[in-house]
This record gives sequence, structure tokens and C-alpha cells, in this order.
Amino acid sequence: FAAITPAVAKTYVVGTSADFPPFEYIKDGQIVGFDIDLIKAIAKSQGFDVKFQDISFDSLIPGLTAGTIDIVASGMTITEERKKVVDFTEPYYSANQAVLVKKGSGKNVTVLFGNHKITVQTGTTGDLWVEENLEKTGILKGKVTRFDTFVLAIQDLINGNVDAVVLDTPVAKRYMAENPVTMVAEIITGEEYGIAVAKGNKDLLDKLNKGLKEIKANGKLDELLKKYF
Ligand code: GLN
Repeated sequence: FAAITPAVAKTYVVGTSADFPPFEYIKDGQIVGFDIDLIKAIAKSQGFDVKFQDISFDSLIPGLTAGTIDIVASGMTITEERKKVVDFTEPYYSANQAVLVKKGSGKNVTVLFGNHKITVQTGTTGDLWVEENLEKTGILKGKVTRFDTFVLAIQDLINGNVDAVVLDTPVAKRYMAENPVTMVAEIITGEEYGIAVAKGNKDLLDKLNKGLKEIKANGKLDELLKKYF
């Protein structure tokens, strides 16, 4: 008799920090955004299913390592440090860091120096940049606060509790379009986003890279870029 292969596609759990519009955010109670559509398109092209988990950004890599999630699709920058613990796909988006201040506050790039308060999201490249360049150097004499989500960080800025938020440029632009905040500087960090899997999960990484290549070639990626940017 012939072995019967069940026609059930494997479901991978995708971790994301849904506070990063237009890459991932909550709309009408649903996790939506560019990364969400991107991973769905890759899944479709490679014949697997995905379900999503909204987790704070700094818990994503621990989630991969612990095996509670299989994939991270969360505007995550490919860095040497992270590459020691997880594997990344080929890059799919480029970004820099931006400095956001409250609109009408008259503040400018000097918020990065002296006695000012800056806020970031814990564990992001913005957090690392501020730590390396402003805190360790002593250029910033004020305080850095760290939030689990950018939604809270932006709220603190609007409430006037802090002078600036440092975050990825494309997301800063989106927050700027929808909130009374404005971008006063761009820090050229030359970051590239990748999708991450647990270190050594070659089978899944290959599928993701194959899918990414396919949606680049068939125009689906361009379609999603047009939809969100
Ligand atoms: N790209 C930044 C990083 O990887 C921020 C990502 C995010 O907050 N979702 O740290």
C-alpha cells in the first residue's frame, strides 16, 4: 500500500512586536503590516502556514532560542551581535535612525547633547546607538528611558515627559504622519532588516530565502512596498 502524506501544511509561529508601523501594528484588534503580508506571501510561495504572536521586541530573540516561536518578522536589523545567536535571511529593507521631537516644541538635534531626556525601545538598534554614542561618551548628561513598545515611547514624548525618541526612520515618518511629533535629524546607520530563525534552523531559513527570492522575482514584494510606503 502507498503511504499517505497528510495534506496539512506545517504552521510556523511568527513573533513580532506590533508597535512598529507600517511594518507591524495593531488595527481593529488585528496584527497587520508590511512584515505580516511579507511573511504570509513567503509562506504561500513555500507551502507553509503562519500564525502570529505579539511579543515585546527584546523578547523576540529569546523566544527563538527557547523555541516558543519559529520566525521573527519584526523590522529586525541584521547585526553582527544578533548573528551570533540567530540566523537571518537575505535583507529585505534598508533604514537609518531618526530623532523625533514633539511638534511645536522648538527642539532640534541638540536634544542629543547636554541635559536632555531621550527615550528608546529596549533592545533596539536605536537603544544601542544611544548607549554607545551618547551615554558611554557622556555627551548626553540627561537621562535615557527605555520602553517595551514605541507606542508608549511616543506617548511619553507627546506628554512632554521626554525631549526626543530615537527610532528607525521609516517608522518615525509613519508616527510623524499620525501624531504631533516631528523628525529633526537622521542618523545614517545603514541598517538592513532580515527575517530571523533559531541558529542552525537551515531548513526553515532556506525556505524563507527561497520564498523571498520568489516574491522579489514575481513582483509581489514590489506590490507590498507600494501598498505600505
Ligand atoms: N530595526 C530596529 C532593530 O532591529 C528596530 C526594530 C523594532 O523596533 N521593531 O533593533
